[in-house]
Amino acid sequence: MPDPKCPIPSPALKDGVNENIEKEFSALICVLYLRERKNPVTETILDLIKRRGIVLGDGGYLIELERRGYVDSGSEREKVGTGRGSGQYTPEVSIEHPEALRELHREFLKAGSQVLQALTFFGTREKLTRSGYGEQTEIINQAAVKIAREVAEGRALVAGSVSRTQLFERQGPSAAHLVRDLLTEQIRLLQRAGVDFLLLETFFRLDEMLIALECARSGSLPLIATMSFRPRITESGDGHSPAECARAMMDAGAQIVGANCEQEPKRMLPILREMRHAVDIPIAAQPAAFRTTDETPCFTRMPQFPDQLETIQISRREFYDFARTAKAEGIGYLGGCCGCNAAYVRALARGLAAANT
Ligand SMILES: [Zn+2]
Repeated sequence: MPDPKCPIPSPALKDGVNENIEKEFSALICVLYLRERKNPVTETILDLIKRRGIVLGDGGYLIELERRGYVDSGSEREKVGTGRGSGQYTPEVSIEHPEALRELHREFLKAGSQVLQALTFFGTREKLTRSGYGEQTEIINQAAVKIAREVAEGRALVAGSVSRTQLFERQGPSAAHLVRDLLTEQIRLLQRAGVDFLLLETFFRLDEMLIALECARSGSLPLIATMSFRPRITESGDGHSPAECARAMMDAGAQIVGANCEQEPKRMLPILREMRHAVDIPIAAQPAAFRTTDETPCFTRMPQFPDQLETIQISRREFYDFARTAKAEGIGYLGGCCGCNAAYVRALARGLAAANT
């Protein structure tokens, strides 16, 4: 019988499929999985990808915690998604409701995540000031890393999440100096708090991403850099193709490059392929779990954002299928983003296990 501690549930039985074969298959996955998880993770993210081929992350913290009532979407105060908000989706949950954040980390770990992202997304001083938490910038970032580290207990790597500041959207390129100062401060906080690597994510513009990489490469931590493509999937907010973004991020010091958020896996795939053909370093994929359209290929521009997202939620089965695709496509780092929760990571874990057999 499968080990009850195995986070990967038995596959659903299908008509005409021998039950014993299904059980043996499930047990084999668990044995392989638990053997892997017994030993503490002492490798870097780069070594881990090199050895395993593909590493499973997590993702989707803010939307999931908003659904659970611990994060403010700002939807009752302002037009969300314009970048002009006063404090939507900020991460003060790490000090206001640490137990809720801890529980979500536990769920991802149990589901199979080999990396836990500290919830430091939108954690720059300026963004936190807009939600009234600017003076707590240090303790919010430190607490987020500490909570992730405590849950990981050496069984997963801890990533520090660094995101766009929204200042380029609001002020244009004249914000570059302020952006540099804000990102420098947050990256220093994350380095001091002891993250294993930095995940620079959800940047709409390449120029802002390159500033983030400039701030981050002064340290010795490995860097994953992922762009989010909005409003088009063919170019970044400042007009660079996925291939150009991938090359520029690599040249600026990222060891792993890719895309995250905004699109469901299928729609993100062409972006990932274009990046993979442009560079010879590992590709990261963290798609959203919301269905977008040809006209609006980014969920934060859909009319359902943020209060009707349930109506465009995709099934976890699409994540299971995507894990198999990702493995076949040579993706090195796989996770989720908005709309994803532990059920989706478990589906990714099962998809990867199935791809390995
Ligand atoms: Zn997202």
